[in-house]
Amino acid sequence: MEKELWEKCAAFHGHECGGLTIGYKAALYAIKLLELDAEKAGKGCFSTDEELVCICENDACSVDAIQVILGCSIGKGNLLFHMTGKQAFSFYHRKSGKSVRLVLKPRPEGMTKEESFRYYQGCEPEEMFEVKETKLRLPEPARIFRSIRCSRCGESTAEHLIRLCGDEKLCLDCYQAYNRFDV
Ligand SMILES: [Zn+2]
Ligand SMILES: [Zn+2]
Repeated sequence: MEKELWEKCAAFHGHECGGLTIGYKAALYAIKLLELDAEKAGKGCFSTDEELVCICENDACSVDAIQVILGCSIGKGNLLFHMTGKQAFSFYHRKSGKSVRLVLKPRPEGMTKEESFRYYQGCEPEEMFEVKETKLRLPEPARIFRSIRCSRCGESTAEHLIRLCGDEKLCLDCYQAYNRFDV
């Protein structure tokens, strides 16, 4: 079953690599630590309604495995980024209130890409990650915003991304064009 899951991740990501392995192992570890039903892995059904939330601290290869295994995705609003550039992932399960932050431990130095891929493939998640408490509060469920038409370009956008300029309601592109590039 684990092999099948890995293949799913690799197919989604486009290649096999160390980074993808990091995300893959983090997702499996999260299932264990949050006591989720492992049968649901890779089927997108952990998170039909944002039940499971992941805050990822980088936007590299690893994130793809988390999307595939845990069903956290940008479109659903339960994959969020807090860009510290660290290989660190926080997982929150709304129902149980459980959460955990996994931080990748440093690996032995001087490895080639291929060696690091093999190294991570051979690691147990327990060896790879430090288990910490989450620092960020569980995000509120994704809000649905009213849609407003930009007074300049006529394109509609979410209310919270509209800027007021005199009597006009402007989208970010039109607002920036007016403020910043008019030099
Ligand atoms: Zn990759
Ligand atoms: Zn506009």
